[in-house]
Amino acid sequence: MYATVDEGDTQVTHTGQVFEKDDYRLVRFTDRPKEVNPNWAINLIDQVPPSPKKERIVACDGGGGPLGHPKVYINLDKPGNHICGYCGLRFYKEDHH
Ligand SMILES: [Zn+2]
Repeated sequence: MYATVDEGDTQVTHTGQVFEKDDYRLVRFTDRPKEVNPNWAINLIDQVPPSPKKERIVACDGGGGPLGHPKVYINLDKPGNHICGYCGLRFYKEDHH
């Protein structure tokens, strides 16, 4: 999980940042390890299974409150999963015929 200066910056962050072995910016890790959170949101949201819905149209606000996002409506008419563009939650319509 940690990269030291000797190893160079081998940890790629969720923004894709990585330093070459001789990059001067590695001095920031001389007395402490580089800490990279391996739990990228894009991977975590992938672990949430798609929600079956009975309605043709669902609303998603990301869970509501200050942790949510503006409410959007998602049409589930087409088969398969439909992804909220804000938070990545997936929905599909049950009993598609
Ligand atoms: Zn959402």
